[in-house]
Amino acid sequence: MSARDRETAVALARLAAALDGAVLGLGTGALAVATWMKYLVTSGQLRRIAAAPAAAIPDLRYLLAEHGGDQPVLAAVRGQVRPVPLGTYIRPPGSRELCVVAQHTQMCLFNEWRGIFGWTFDLHALFFKSLKEQIITSFRWVPFVLVDPENMTGMARVKLDGATQPLPLTNVYHKLIPVESTPYTLFQTIIGNGYPIALLDEEKILPVGKEITAIGYCQPHKASVEISSCPDLPFFLSELTKDEMEAELSSRARTLFWATVVLGTMSIGLLGFATYRRWQKIKERREARQAQEVFRQSTDDVTDQASDDEEEGGEIGDGQLCVICLRKRRRAAFIPCGHLVCCCKCAMIVERQFEPLCPMCRQDIRYMIRIYDN
Ligand SMILES: [Zn+2]
Ligand SMILES: [Zn+2]
Repeated sequence: MSARDRETAVALARLAAALDGAVLGLGTGALAVATWMKYLVTSGQLRRIAAAPAAAIPDLRYLLAEHGGDQPVLAAVRGQVRPVPLGTYIRPPGSRELCVVAQHTQMCLFNEWRGIFGWTFDLHALFFKSLKEQIITSFRWVPFVLVDPENMTGMARVKLDGATQPLPLTNVYHKLIPVESTPYTLFQTIIGNGYPIALLDEEKILPVGKEITAIGYCQPHKASVEISSCPDLPFFLSELTKDEMEAELSSRARTLFWATVVLGTMSIGLLGFATYRRWQKIKERREARQAQEVFRQSTDDVTDQASDDEEEGGEIGDGQLCVICLRKRRRAAFIPCGHLVCCCKCAMIVERQFEPLCPMCRQDIRYMIRIYDN
């Protein structure tokens, strides 16, 4: 791990552990809430797809008429892709198949980060790597319809505009063009930056004759029916059947549900622990304050004897002199380290500092107690 990574990791760990893990607890809680929201969205989508009728293409018009005619109806239809009657199609470069949608992608692939010492793990790369990929895409499509796969009668026009869902495209062309290395790439390798190793050239199409399911809003369009995407659903055109879509969504919902349970439990545990630690600290502080009070009273009691101490100054052995003033007898022990190195007055001066530390071992001082010889 490089020094830069170590700093990042340490900063993340410190942030997570801040306030006895309360920050981590709140973060986990926020994640649990976000997962729960996703679960609600997914189960809502599942309910809508389950409720949408699956209709054969020739029956679509009756279905619309049943629902009052002009209102769009959410329905699922399965059919074969065809260009519109008398319409055109696309012949993609690099393939003999005819299609109605062609998507060309060029992606720049970067090598994994690997400095001269062979490090393969880079936290920064995890965060910033995605920025390095460049994608150039051309997207072409012609109007197309779905026809009933059984008897080839009836058709549903597909309205692709505004659809954000992924399309069931087939990969027909796929080429990796290596990028030649130059002295500059060598330099980049040494300083540990990613450098382009290849250009990925891809052509994906929606071929004529492919059987797909369309789930979306159906409404009458001229002599036929038009189906358009429902923005709330994760599917529009898909290779999956309606049952498979439901199965996929219900397994996704199940995963999200259990993730929420696990994250929620973790968050409650972490926050509970943080609260407990906080409460303990408050208790400790209160105890320390009480001990301080007792110490102060006891020193008040002995101020009268203080002169005795000074008088006996001559008789005190070196090992018993206060390490600060070097005049009085050691009387105050620091808790928790237990060092008896200061007289009461000096101990009080030490204790009043912003961060009281034992002058002997530099440990934190929580409170002091007065020691009596007899
Ligand atoms: Zn002293
Ligand atoms: Zn000490």
